[in-house]
Amino acid sequence: MSQQFIKLLLPLPDLFQIQMSSDEEPNVFPVIPDRHDIPCPLCQRKTVLHSKRRRRFRHGHAWNVGILWIELDVPRQRCFSCDLTFVYDYGLGLVRTSTEVFRKGIAERCHGRTISDVAREYGLPYTTVERWFYRYASVETEKHTTDVLIDEFATRKGHHYATIALDAESGRLLSIVPGRDVTAITAALQGIAGDVRSVVSDFAPAMAKAVAHVFPDAKHVLDRFHLIQFFTDALRRRRRFLNEAKRRLTDWLDRYQFHPCGPLAKIAKSIQNREEAMRRTIVSSLSNGKMEGTNNKIKLIKRRGYGYRNLERFFLRLYLEIGR
Ligand SMILES: [Zn+2]
Repeated sequence: MSQQFIKLLLPLPDLFQIQMSSDEEPNVFPVIPDRHDIPCPLCQRKTVLHSKRRRRFRHGHAWNVGILWIELDVPRQRCFSCDLTFVYDYGLGLVRTSTEVFRKGIAERCHGRTISDVAREYGLPYTTVERWFYRYASVETEKHTTDVLIDEFATRKGHHYATIALDAESGRLLSIVPGRDVTAITAALQGIAGDVRSVVSDFAPAMAKAVAHVFPDAKHVLDRFHLIQFFTDALRRRRRFLNEAKRRLTDWLDRYQFHPCGPLAKIAKSIQNREEAMRRTIVSSLSNGKMEGTNNKIKLIKRRGYGYRNLERFFLRLYLEIGR
């Protein structure tokens, strides 16, 4: 590897000379720092070399080679004036067997991937990568967007809530703020940059207020789930006027079952045939929600097992998981 190339792979301050690695250990690069005075961290006065130890640190990574190490003498200095002895690390952030550049690089690689994935790729213990990630990972993400989804979620169910904003198209996290009142929602929205055209939220009045305050020109869109829930509630409240509904339905059927418009007459006829069952649908408190839920469960069981070839065992598994 050329000197230039090594310098790119192993970014080091100018005071270091990088030497070639040996054939036996192609990924260990000895580095030699320029001689310079090392001041005492307490009194800033002159210090003298007390002892030194040759040590190796992970510093970079190269495709097909793996982790690149630097090897250098780490000096232990003694101060003339205050007698302090200290280890000098040339500002490399030497901790155990890695430099700060290396730890930051690893933390950066965790973005959009799982920590275990990164740990496996670099042959590092999971807990080490995890620690570095939480120490160095920056939360600086791209915050420009045009369409925003905003909602709340429980950090601890029934106790603590947080407000979260996503990019409507990519689902990227834009901002997240503790709390769910107007202040929290406003703060979450203020963390978003760009020419925001629309904001999708639920029906909460606090949402409308915050959206109007932060993005007065944006369109406020109510989300579909809550809109349908809203209509379902309205339908439930109308159930007590069922007698009137029956009369109106009969009127409507009488009027349209011989209507010249064929498809309309057909609809009226099929409603008339099923009228009794349809009205029971509105009155009855029974619903097939449980069935839909179970179907979803079955789907997940299938997926968890990557499909079942043996139908008998599949049914047995269903009895086990949803038979109680
Ligand atoms: Zn000193």
